Amino acid sequence: MSEQRIAFVTGASRGIGRAIATRLAAEGRHVVLCSRSQAPLNDLKAEIESSTGASASVCACDISDPAALAKAIEDTVSDHGRLDILVNNAGITRDNLLLRMSDEEWDDVISTNLRSVFVACRAAARPMMKGRFGRIVNIASTSGLVGNAGQANYAASKSALTGFTKTVARELGSKGVTANVVAPGFIATDMTKDLPENVVDSVKAMVAVKRLGEPADIASAVAYVTSDDAGFLTGQTITVDGGMTMC
Ligand code: NDP
Repeated sequence: MSEQRIAFVTGASRGIGRAIATRLAAEGRHVVLCSRSQAPLNDLKAEIESSTGASASVCACDISDPAALAKAIEDTVSDHGRLDILVNNAGITRDNLLLRMSDEEWDDVISTNLRSVFVACRAAARPMMKGRFGRIVNIASTSGLVGNAGQANYAASKSALTGFTKTVARELGSKGVTANVVAPGFIATDMTKDLPENVVDSVKAMVAVKRLGEPADIASAVAYVTSDDAGFLTGQTITVDGGMTMC
């Protein structure tokens, strides 16, 4: 590889996305940090640049706005002349039981967790094919694999990523572009910090390694899937859940 790989990571301001961005920067990638809030991205950029010596850039964007997200990817390509790695990590929950779930709760989750991935992949496909290299990783969830009461919207959005990603893998594989899903189990982040203690204890009991995951556990998997070495790995769902589901 003669030039530095350029990576675009959504949801980089905290949690799993922050760990992924930090890890990819440590592996020598230039990382474009994307989320809605700019201040934590500025802080992360400074932290990455001081700790790794790698450069990073900040892109404040609401991924549920298709035009804004497509422009963010196009701007990345025009600024850097290429896009090698796309990590669609940003996601939200709007939990409710099926009988109580509103159209708005459904639509919010589908547009943020699913439509954004379609929009980002569509925008990234041409530059990746042109460069004859691409690594797309879509972050799903074990909720999308086995279901979870109260998460019909979220589970549907995450489950849909598997069929979508396999299709992208088939369409782009001959051009050197891979597409995979990483499906985390329970990971200690803002998304899970308000779970009652008894729920956390019952989750730990189901996890073979008897702990919640850390954002770095997901970042390790993403680092491999996005590496130059992973060119024969595509269309897969890699479940990183400490052995909770084993499905
Ligand atoms: P957090 O809630 O900690 O962080 C979510 C990130 O997404 C933030 O950076 C947030 O930044 C960004 N984000 C949310 N909405 C938007 C938006 N509309 N536009 C741009 N950025 C947005 O989540 P986690 O780190 O826990 O989760 C990351 C991913 O992993 C998600 O897809 C989640 O579904 C998945 N996951 C998490 C699990 C867990 O146990 N934590 C388990 C399984 C899957 P900002 O608010 O500034 O926009």
